[in-house]
Amino acid sequence: MPSPAAANPFAPRVYGTLERLSPRVAVWRNIVNSTIFIGDHSIAVVDTQVNQALAKRLRQRLQDEFRKPVRFAINTHYHWDHTNGNSVFAEAGATLIANRDTVDFMVSKAPRQKQFLASRGFDLGPDPLLPTVMAEDCGPLDLGGLTLHLSRGAPAETVDPTLVWCPEERVLVAGDTVMTGSFPIFGQPSQREGLENDGWLAALDEVRSFAALHVSPGHGPVADVAALAVLERIIRWFLTEVRRHHAAGRDLPATIAAIEHELPPWIRAIPEVWGTPRYAVLRVWAGLVQLGEPGWHHCKPSAIPEQKPGSIGADLAAWRDATNSALEGGDQALAVGCARGATVVFPDQPAAWTQLAAVLIQVSRSIASVLEKGDCFDAARRALNRALTIDPAYGPALLQLGQFHVMMAYRNGDDPTVGERHLAAALEDDRLTPRHRAEIAFYRGMAERTKGNETAARQRYAQAQQADPTFMPARLALL
Ligand SMILES: [Zn+2]
Repeated sequence: MPSPAAANPFAPRVYGTLERLSPRVAVWRNIVNSTIFIGDHSIAVVDTQVNQALAKRLRQRLQDEFRKPVRFAINTHYHWDHTNGNSVFAEAGATLIANRDTVDFMVSKAPRQKQFLASRGFDLGPDPLLPTVMAEDCGPLDLGGLTLHLSRGAPAETVDPTLVWCPEERVLVAGDTVMTGSFPIFGQPSQREGLENDGWLAALDEVRSFAALHVSPGHGPVADVAALAVLERIIRWFLTEVRRHHAAGRDLPATIAAIEHELPPWIRAIPEVWGTPRYAVLRVWAGLVQLGEPGWHHCKPSAIPEQKPGSIGADLAAWRDATNSALEGGDQALAVGCARGATVVFPDQPAAWTQLAAVLIQVSRSIASVLEKGDCFDAARRALNRALTIDPAYGPALLQLGQFHVMMAYRNGDDPTVGERHLAAALEDDRLTPRHRAEIAFYRGMAERTKGNETAARQRYAQAQQADPTFMPARLALL
């Protein structure tokens, strides 16, 4: 989603925009879409957002704009980003609806899903509230002058899709069977699902058979015929190319290398948000070769660049200087190598582990895909845990942890409380430098900004500037 944040990474954000398809249909666009149907007497929400904080924003927006009760909240499939806000709509009186497999998967696939997402840096929060009405048992849902027909879709990203069809408006909600605007994520990389064979192509034919005026996708802009054709073209390309390399006897690393090398310009031009060509190769590969456990994430080469440094002086400061000059010279691989080298030579120094985490977070900024960034987040989190095992009161490590959680919440519109707790704990350490104090004040400001408390946020940024006038992010945040 293009936003002013692209220019200023700390600017106040708008979480979700309501796009009208017609007077009676809208899509709340965010990292995931919720489709809204507004009947004469009630509203239905299809997919309930990625976290409860966003679901509350959406609920408030619908209340302000339409002043009608949300009577139904429907999940198109079990994935966390489509179900996490369920309780927020149930609290408002909505009946939660999904098919039986979706409800089953929301429980049975949850542990593996959570483990995977935690490894990508996502804090899933409370488990989603389970739907109590099964789509199989529903007749058309009546919103007053508008009806919704729920049907079981052919397997695509998951095997449990529910399609939601509104005949009066000729709108089809396709869930993650259709993704537009960025490289698709072809199934959750820790599950046995997704682009395994030609099934997804059949699912697209089924979507087309509705002859809808608008197809609302799980992610990305509302789809027309051309957008469906692009998705089909991507799917066909990866199915064909990966099968070709496999048939030629290449192994997985060789196939990834070859395909990443020969990606045509029209695929390279697709922005990456979640999915990447590499994940697509792995996904198709997992349909050809038994990989030992569900999913293919465990076979993905790390996105972290690393190059071992030459000899470096005998104290930690020399390693820190080498790391910083590598960063300043734009050599991220060498910076990671130096920072990691320091943790090998000084494994009992929390400062070494904290610096490694800081370098990894910096490296993550040059990786587009949220899932690929997770390689850095996961390694950074482990480094910080190590620092805090050595010294649980080590302020700089607590600051890093707090910064990480607050900035994740800021980007995803989530609740920043966990990050704020770490920042408050960091302040207890009396070894902090003025720069550390500036950073703590600044990230507390970002937490306030995430919650929409602009006055409190600006007070924190001013505090940060007082603590260290050279700390630029505080100045940027105040613009
Ligand atoms: Zn999704």
